[in-house]
Amino acid sequence: MKEKNWIKILFSFASLCRKRIILSVFCAVISVGGGILPYFGVYKIIALFIEETPRVDRLLFWAALCIIGYFVQVLFHGISTTLAHISAYTILESMRLKIANKLMSAPLGIVLNNTIGNLKNIIVDRVESIEVPLAHVIPEVTSNLLLPIGVFIYLCLIDWRMALATIVTVPMAGVIFAIMMKNFNKQYDDYVKANNHINSVIVEYVEGIEVIKAFNQSTTSYEKFTNGVTYFKDYTLRWFNSTWALMNLAFAVLPSTLIGTLPVGIALYIGESLTTSEFTICLILSAGIVTPLLKVTMFINEAKSMQYAINDIDKLLNMIELETTKKPINITNYDIRIQDVSFSYELKDKNKKNMALSGVNLYMKQGSFSALVGPSGGGKSTVARLIARFWDVDEGSIQIGGVDIKRIPIGQLADIVTFVTQDNFLFNCSIKENIRLGNPEASDDEVYRAARAACCDEFIQGLKDGYNTKVGESGNQLSGGEKQRIAIARAILKNAPIVILDEATAFTDPENEDKIQESIRVLTKGKTLLVIAHRLSTVKNADQIIVLEMGQVIQVGAQKQLLESCPLFTQMWNAHIGAKTWSVSNRKGKEQKVNV
Ligand code: ADP
Repeated sequence: MKEKNWIKILFSFASLCRKRIILSVFCAVISVGGGILPYFGVYKIIALFIEETPRVDRLLFWAALCIIGYFVQVLFHGISTTLAHISAYTILESMRLKIANKLMSAPLGIVLNNTIGNLKNIIVDRVESIEVPLAHVIPEVTSNLLLPIGVFIYLCLIDWRMALATIVTVPMAGVIFAIMMKNFNKQYDDYVKANNHINSVIVEYVEGIEVIKAFNQSTTSYEKFTNGVTYFKDYTLRWFNSTWALMNLAFAVLPSTLIGTLPVGIALYIGESLTTSEFTICLILSAGIVTPLLKVTMFINEAKSMQYAINDIDKLLNMIELETTKKPINITNYDIRIQDVSFSYELKDKNKKNMALSGVNLYMKQGSFSALVGPSGGGKSTVARLIARFWDVDEGSIQIGGVDIKRIPIGQLADIVTFVTQDNFLFNCSIKENIRLGNPEASDDEVYRAARAACCDEFIQGLKDGYNTKVGESGNQLSGGEKQRIAIARAILKNAPIVILDEATAFTDPENEDKIQESIRVLTKGKTLLVIAHRLSTVKNADQIIVLEMGQVIQVGAQKQLLESCPLFTQMWNAHIGAKTWSVSNRKGKEQKVNV
């Protein structure tokens, strides 16, 4: 895909703060004007001495002008920088909010195709990297370019030949810069790749630290991490080594304006085209003209990093979105119909597709209990995710109360469907707020009631700060079973008419299991319930059990029916019953039967 013009994209963001940016540039120009005044004042003072008319009142006047000029320069530079910073942070805020909104409205699969490292890198670091250029380029580049231009014009007024002599080093340094920048794009591209690589190995290393420790892989994983870091160091040093000589040469040549001004000035002075005071001020001004230009060259790197950041941000912002409408639909019935649905996941290798469901037809009556069973990889979770519209179906349709879910606004659909997954993500805020996510409007009493119904009141009360206990990032301070019960309390509070439950197998200790089953009973009472069942005994009372294999519905029926007519189900049931009892030795060496 051809990359868009990043400056255009930046301008589209900048349009948010157009007035403030224009004002910032305007103040920068005034500041530059103020900056020129002291040069002019000094010139006038020198002239007074050379012409031997240094009257005190005149001297004071020009000295005051110098001070006022300096004051105006500092004041307006400050205002300009402040305005530029406010604009920069407003633009960053709008970029981050836009990306967050985009992640919400894009299909989940496309969002998950990005690694956490990559998303964090773009949303936090890349967006941040725009701040410096944005907040400083406007006032500083404006003043660093305008000041030399202003001084050059002033020199032209004194003597155009001296003005040209002043900038004689610019083309010389330009040639050196051009040689140095020959491979800049390629080198910067490699630099960004190396940087992205360490970003992803660091995130992988930190995220996988539990597995690394458990499998004693610290040496190999650490090696991958250190290799990434060392490669980055080597790469940047190699790049630096290949350019530093030329860079220093350019920086040495550019300010050596005396190379031009001294011989030309002497010649003009001897030829009486230049007075002593004019010659002096030309020498002073020529020394000050080039330093600001040097600062501008510093922004070349910043501009490049901004280009990469803007392009990455733009790619995220152009992810496809789920089509949606805004107008809420009146839904009176909460049955679910899945009609001729086929779906494949888009794999990272775009040429490959993974057919997860093909020609699926199902009907779940309002208030009924349906269970999805089948071998792993059969498509159970996919059916559930498609109902919650994490992805859109490729063919066919899914309807709730006879309305295609594509016609239901995404927010409304999220209110109708509760999806309790195995990954019970808890945010790093209090337990109370985590439960309240189910219904942000709920009062504290309603939160406590939901927690009691989900059998988590007791353990929460036992924590140091009770409901105000912070759960720690992703709920690290709680056990798996406790997290799941909090997730169920959240779902109870949400009280949506359709509940999809990915039945977890991880929390099968008897004490947890009873409590979880009890909380699920409260959650699902009177709801259209769809359970992804991992243990067949928990769904034996379902109104219908749907057997899925390789993305197709093999059979649908009550347990009794399936046991009579579905060999796959019978086989799974027998395997389940076999696993349902096992023997453990108790401490006295006796065999004890335990029910799962
Ligand atoms: P089940 O829940 O029955 O174990 P899934 O619905 O998770 O099965 O998976 C059905 C098929 O889709 C499997 O072949 C699985 O590998 C594939 N699949 C599941 N999730 C993804 C994904 N995010 N990206 C690509 N393929 C996936």
